Amino acid sequence: MKRTPLVAGNWKMNGGQSLVASMATALAEYQGVADVVVCPPFPYLASAREQLPAAIGLGAQNVSDQAEGAFTGEVAASMLAEAGCGYVIIGHSERRALYAESDAQIADKFAQVQAAGLIPVLCVGETLAEREAGNTDAVVCGQLQAVVDAVGVAAFARAVVAYEPVWAIGTGKTASPEQAQAVHARLRQSLAENDPDIAQSLRLLYGGSVKADNAALLFAQSDIDGGLIGGASLTADSFIAICQAAE
Ligand code: PEP
Repeated sequence: MKRTPLVAGNWKMNGGQSLVASMATALAEYQGVADVVVCPPFPYLASAREQLPAAIGLGAQNVSDQAEGAFTGEVAASMLAEAGCGYVIIGHSERRALYAESDAQIADKFAQVQAAGLIPVLCVGETLAEREAGNTDAVVCGQLQAVVDAVGVAAFARAVVAYEPVWAIGTGKTASPEQAQAVHARLRQSLAENDPDIAQSLRLLYGGSVKADNAALLFAQSDIDGGLIGGASLTADSFIAICQAAE
């Protein structure tokens, strides 16, 4: 099955109005085949939606696991929808590690995102210690299956999954195309055991030190359908070069 590639830029807690403006100007010229999504911090979402071309998607980096109410400091999925988001990153390894997000909480967030009509980008990935102990497949498939068990496999018809080995995020160490493809194939097989058609249509992104010069080989792998890009999404030139590598 042919899946349209998707490249999403996760700015993390970086950038500002000037990056919104320069990214919007540069992406106005983008004509590639990949779907492109920009994920700035919450305060810039609304102005990013105003400035970005309509064909460029907007994503948030986090969301509340609750629908509304007395949850000071939290942001509901419905609010992200109103701000013009189409996507929300869920379960990034920084949130799992630094904010102790559990699989159960991530599944609740996934459900909130879909209830608001948005597409969750569910991140999974193993640490270096887990890889060296030979546990990569068990860890990443376990993170995926925890959400499948909570929300049902049918929900993955409207979702994206990103494989992001923790040891490759922000470290400059990219998984080799073969290493990444092997995990992607395993994730797709794991989902196929739940529903083969949904597994075939699911977009599986790779993330972890993707740069303009390594993106094409990664994206050429049969089960890699694009990327979730951190550091290299912070300048328009490198981000667009990566988007173009997903042709
Ligand atoms: C990320 O944080 O999602 C990521 C992939 O970061 P980087 O590209 O900087 O490794």
